[in-house]
Amino acid sequence: MYEAAVAHYQATGERNLLDVAIKNADLIDQVFGSGKNMGVPGHQEIEIGLVKLYRVTGEQKYLDLAKFFVDQRGNAEGHDLTEGSHAGKYQQDHMPLAQQEEAVGHAVRAGYFYAGATDVAALTGETAYDQALDKIWKDIVHQKIYLTGGIGAERQHEGFGPDYELPNATAYTETCAAIALMLWNHRLFLRSGEVKYMDVFERTLYNGFLAGVSFEGNTFFYPNPLESDGVTKFNQGVCGRSPWFSTSCCPVNVVRLMPSLPGYIYATKGNAVYVNLYIGNRAELELGDQTLKLSQSTNYPWDGRVELTIQNEENIPATFKLRVPGWARNEVMSGDLYRYVDGLSPSVKISVNGETIDTNIEDGYITLEKRAWKQNDKIEIAFDMPVRKVVSHELVAANKGKMALERGPLVYCAEEVDNPEGVQNLTLAKEDAFEYTFDSELFGGLGKIEGNALVESNPTAFTAIPYYAWAHREIGEMAVWLKVR
Ligand SMILES: [Zn+2]
Repeated sequence: MYEAAVAHYQATGERNLLDVAIKNADLIDQVFGSGKNMGVPGHQEIEIGLVKLYRVTGEQKYLDLAKFFVDQRGNAEGHDLTEGSHAGKYQQDHMPLAQQEEAVGHAVRAGYFYAGATDVAALTGETAYDQALDKIWKDIVHQKIYLTGGIGAERQHEGFGPDYELPNATAYTETCAAIALMLWNHRLFLRSGEVKYMDVFERTLYNGFLAGVSFEGNTFFYPNPLESDGVTKFNQGVCGRSPWFSTSCCPVNVVRLMPSLPGYIYATKGNAVYVNLYIGNRAELELGDQTLKLSQSTNYPWDGRVELTIQNEENIPATFKLRVPGWARNEVMSGDLYRYVDGLSPSVKISVNGETIDTNIEDGYITLEKRAWKQNDKIEIAFDMPVRKVVSHELVAANKGKMALERGPLVYCAEEVDNPEGVQNLTLAKEDAFEYTFDSELFGGLGKIEGNALVESNPTAFTAIPYYAWAHREIGEMAVWLKVR
C-alpha cells in the first residue's frame, strides 16, 4: 500500500492515498521499534515501502523504521527466533543479516528483504550488510538461479534449496520471486554501476517474470516451472494459466512491475546516461541541471538494432554508457552455473550519425565519451543475435545431458503443440545449426527457433518458442532443457 500510495502521488500529485499510507506508517512507528514491540514482519516488504515513503516525504523516521526492521530480523533480543513453519530460516529470521552467507527460506521474502537492506544501506551509509548481500547474491547467481532468472527451487516452502538443486518440473520460481529479484538487482546496480546486476534483471524480466502473465493480461502463473508433463496441476490446481489464486500476490505484483518498467530503462550519474534496457520509448532524463530528451526505437528482442535519437533543441553535453547484455558478451550470467557451448562471439557495432566507431566493451558497457549532442544526432547499435546453445554446470543433475536454446535475452522452450511427437522424446544434436524465424501470424508476431531433432532414431522437425509465450495454446508437454547427443 505504501508503494501504491507513493506511485499514485507521483503520478497524480494527489495526496489522498499517500495520507492514508502515512497514517498507517505512523501507527506502525508508534508500536514497533527499539524499546517498543521488537517483533519483525512475518513477510518482508514494509522495508522497501517505508524507504519509498521516506523518499517522498523526507521524514527520517520512516527510514529509521525500515532500518530497525532490517536490523531486528534475526536478532534474538526482543523477539522469538524459534524454528517453525513461519519462523527462523523460512523468513530469514535465524541470524542477523550481517552474519548470513547464503540464500535460505522463502524466496519472495528473501528478495524483498535483500532489496530493503540494499535501500537502507544506500541511504544511511550503513556498510554492515554489504559483505552478506554480496555473498548471498553470489550464492544465488552462481548456484541457485534458473536459466530463466527464476528463484526458489523447492515447492514445499516456496524457497531456496541446496546448491545446484534445480529441478525443472517442480521448480517453484514464483512470479513474485522473479519480481523481488529484479527489485533487488536494480538497487544493487544503482549502488555499484555493475552490469552483472542488470544482466540478471534483463534475463528475469524477459523470462522468469514475463512468463507469469498471459498476453491478454488476464491469466497468470504462480510458479513458473521449466518443464511440464501437460498433466500435473502445478499452478495452484491448474495445468496451465489461471485467472486468479486464493493468494493473489502474483497478479497484483505484475500490476506493480509493468507500469514501473520505464524507470528501469535508463540510469544517470552526473552527465552520464546508462542505457540499460533496449525498449522503445521517449524519455526526459535529468543530467545535473539539464534535461536530456531522448527517443529510443527498436524491435528488440526480435532483432538487435537500436536507434537512440537526441531530441533537445539546444546542444547538451552527455556521456553515453550503452549496456552490452550478457548474452552478447558470452556470459549467460556471472559465475559458471550456465555457459554457452556454441563457440560464437556475437558482434556489436556502434555508429554515431552514420559513422562507425570503435566498440571497446569495458565492464559490460560501451562508452561514448562526453560531447555536446545536438538535435537529431543518432546513435545506432547493432547487436548480432544468433541462436545460442547453453549447458549447465555438471552438478545440476536435472540438466545433465541436456541443452537449452536462447536468442537475445529470450530463453526458448519446446511445446508439444509444435512438436506432436512429444517434447520429452526429442533429442537435439549439439553441433546442429538452429534457425531463427519470425512468425508474423502466431500471437500477432513471435520469434521461433527451428531445426532438426531425433525421436528415438527417427529424424523429425523441431520448433521452440520463447519461454514466456508458453501455455497460450493447447496444453501439453513443455521443456526448456532438452536432451542432447
Ligand atoms: Zn506471488
